[in-house]
Amino acid sequence: MIQLDILAVGNLERDEEGKILEANSTSVLIRTPDRLIVVDPSTKYMKPMVKTSFKQIGVFPKDVDTVILTHSHRDHVENLGFYKNAKVYIHSGASEEIPGATVIDEEEFRICEGVTMVHTPGHCPEECSVFVEADRRYVIAGDTIPLEDNFRKNVPPALNSDPDLALESIKRVRKYADVVIPGHGFPFMAEW
Ligand SMILES: [Zn+2]
Repeated sequence: MIQLDILAVGNLERDEEGKILEANSTSVLIRTPDRLIVVDPSTKYMKPMVKTSFKQIGVFPKDVDTVILTHSHRDHVENLGFYKNAKVYIHSGASEEIPGATVIDEEEFRICEGVTMVHTPGHCPEECSVFVEADRRYVIAGDTIPLEDNFRKNVPPALNSDPDLALESIKRVRKYADVVIPGHGFPFMAEW
């Protein structure tokens, strides 16, 4: 069985002009029978929260074997060094290289049974989501869907490299997901 845990719930705060004041991504742990996968390590600010979550779940960060980065932005990747023994995956197209990361070119890349990286560009060229077949179908969307509002109102991320592609990507998530875990904020049900 595959289990998902939220290691830290991220936030995204803007001022009235839309300038970002604070951004910390949500971080997710996927446990399969033989793999420990983290999607988006998040920021230094969130590290105490992430550490506490590992203690509560009863897993050691050193045992995480895989880290998937939804994209290369700092608010998602800052704690990458915390997972010293993990193989790191990112989709191609990032403007900044992540040292040591394996770059994926495929539209869909299977990490293991039930866990697939899906290219969902639009926020930035390398943006991808992680589709997980567990008790329900989960999409860990990164900034394909930064906030629940983007999904409910069908609007592309405020920061985007291609708004049309971003909407296509939201559509792709919508088709699959029972539950969406956005880049920032709490998981939510796709239909309610
Ligand atoms: Zn973000």
